[in-house]
Amino acid sequence: MMRQYQLVERVKRYNPNTDETLLNKAYIYALRAHGSQRRASGDPFFAHPLEVAAILTDLRLDDATIIAAVLHDTIEDTEATLEEINQIFNPEIGALVDGLTKIKRLDLVSKRAAQGENFRKLLLAISADVRVLLVKLADRLHNMRTLEFMPMEKRPRISEETLEIYAPLAGRMGMQEMRAELEDLSFRHLRPEAYQTITQRLNDLSEKSEKLVEEIERILTSLLAAKGLAAEVKGRRKRPYSIWKKMERKSVAFEQLSDIFGFRIIVDDLDACYRALGVVHMTWPMVPGRYKDYISTPKQNDYRSIHTTVVGPGKQRVELQIRTRAMDEVAEYGIAAHALYKEGADIARFVSESRAYQWLRRTIDLLAEGDNPEEFLEHTKLELFHDQVFCFTPKGRLIALPRGATPIDFAYAVHTDVGNTAVGCKINGRMSPLLTELANGDEVEIVRAANQTPPAAWESLVATGKARAAIRRATRTAVRRQYAGLGAQILSRAFERAGKAYSEEKIAAALPRLARGSTEDVMAAVGRGEIYSGDVVRAVYPDYSDDRRPSTSPRAAGDEAAVKIQPLFGPGEEQAIPIRGQGQDLPIRFAPEGGAVPGDRIVGIIDPGEGITIYPIQATALAAFDNEPERWVDVRWDSEAIGSQRFPARLSLQSINEPGTLAQIAQVIADHDANIDNIAMRRTTPDFTDLTVDLAVWDLKNLNGIIAELRGKRVIAKVERVTG
Ligand code: MN
Repeated sequence: MMRQYQLVERVKRYNPNTDETLLNKAYIYALRAHGSQRRASGDPFFAHPLEVAAILTDLRLDDATIIAAVLHDTIEDTEATLEEINQIFNPEIGALVDGLTKIKRLDLVSKRAAQGENFRKLLLAISADVRVLLVKLADRLHNMRTLEFMPMEKRPRISEETLEIYAPLAGRMGMQEMRAELEDLSFRHLRPEAYQTITQRLNDLSEKSEKLVEEIERILTSLLAAKGLAAEVKGRRKRPYSIWKKMERKSVAFEQLSDIFGFRIIVDDLDACYRALGVVHMTWPMVPGRYKDYISTPKQNDYRSIHTTVVGPGKQRVELQIRTRAMDEVAEYGIAAHALYKEGADIARFVSESRAYQWLRRTIDLLAEGDNPEEFLEHTKLELFHDQVFCFTPKGRLIALPRGATPIDFAYAVHTDVGNTAVGCKINGRMSPLLTELANGDEVEIVRAANQTPPAAWESLVATGKARAAIRRATRTAVRRQYAGLGAQILSRAFERAGKAYSEEKIAAALPRLARGSTEDVMAAVGRGEIYSGDVVRAVYPDYSDDRRPSTSPRAAGDEAAVKIQPLFGPGEEQAIPIRGQGQDLPIRFAPEGGAVPGDRIVGIIDPGEGITIYPIQATALAAFDNEPERWVDVRWDSEAIGSQRFPARLSLQSINEPGTLAQIAQVIADHDANIDNIAMRRTTPDFTDLTVDLAVWDLKNLNGIIAELRGKRVIAKVERVTG
């Protein structure tokens, strides 16, 4: 395990101004925090964060990054807290460790490899600071280097994830060395036999080519020197994974030197690159189609180099890269190369140097993009990405949603049926409202119940078009079904009253006369009050004359079907009304003038296109519907659902004008545990004031208790209930 002074020395090698005290503090803090924890290999756990820090010293990163690496597993795995780290170190380091903790928690959710692109975006969304990603990559690299200590069954998933997510991430950050190592390590665990075969063959061929490689290095160096070019020429063996990819792609074996070796010519400046290229092309014929100038046109990740292939000694193809030392550093270390220490420059100054910072921003943006060549399309996608949240199902499926999305959106994104039957949700294991705004990385479990209809009010509360359309569809279908059911009952009564036989077939035959497309259309229209039931009877039996418009007295609860009414919210009202009756799931509201309370005998009146209005049987407003018996429906209170809410009732009072009268009225109402919704006062004479009081009461008994007590007050001249 690395010693304290060794870590400090590694940093000092490239950053003589490092804050030694802080580094030492981090070492001690993490050492104590991890205590006797051990890794799967049997090593002390603390060896891991130290190795991660070491990888980052190779990239020559700043103190905050190195310290964050040392601390990166403390919050999640030990007693350490963010507050403590903020306090002992500083908020900059705290923020980095916090970002790493969040990513680590995501790792706990099993992920599917196929979701790599989304997961990569999620990582980016969470890592506000690019240094968080650098530590995460180093963390993964060390875990991959020690993967053989993990249980056999865990290795494929971790390797796949590395190949799918972390290696491309390193590549897009321009860190080719790290990308290549991550790829090779994953390949070794995913395809052990292929890896062995290729490595073996690579070793054999390398041995055979050893002399040739040396010869080419020598020839090139002397040719360049002859032209006054000081150059470093190095033959580099290709990586097993890149050979494997090429073999897969072209289904060929590797035989040529150029299959296993690439040469790199490093020169001092830009000018020298092109002069070196001239020397190479004048010496050996170039292979057409293989020349690429990434110096005049750099790659998106800032990679700059000249690539060419020539037919070299022994008719062997030789691949060459020509670049300056600075270009080479960017190619190897990518984003990290830009953070190199130059005479004690700190990261803050680096960030404020606008050119470098812009490059960093651009790189982060590029990371969000796919490898799709259609860059313009990708750029518009980037906008979307900033606006997205990424959440998980309990099984680890990743669901991408627009920012502001709720668990309802989530449910519909999983499946329309899940959305339609959602009644509650757990976010990260805790019961939460369905209207909670989701955050990145939330795990969402939808609680479902059979035979549900989504409340229409959801439509305006969701963020996704998919959910909105599905809710509208489900609500429309449900309401239509309910109206049709109601219409069918009204029709069967109307036919019975007319003394005519009723059947759906008969109505079907009369559809042209009713100008409707289906019997369900007819029933729904009757249910909505758009067609009068007598007109349907006449359409079926043209000889029928509807002279019977009985002015029946309102019926109370009788032979009603025991159907529980769903609380479908009408516009502006969100009270669930516990009513049983024929109306089934229609939108329900109370009589606007006076309401109704449990204990009242009630009746429902169909309002065309609106739903059902509930009136107490004594309501004077009911007289207006005497001539429309088809609009009356039988309802009764759903006794099981009553008890958790108050109901609207209206009182008309006449009070004596005395100081404190209003207070006495309010006191009586409060004593009975009722609420005042509204009071309208009108002074009629100098002595008396008329009041209209809208109350919310539990039931009729509650209401009558209030009326009785008010009547007993000396200051109240008159109390009456108003029922519309
Ligand atoms: Mn770790």
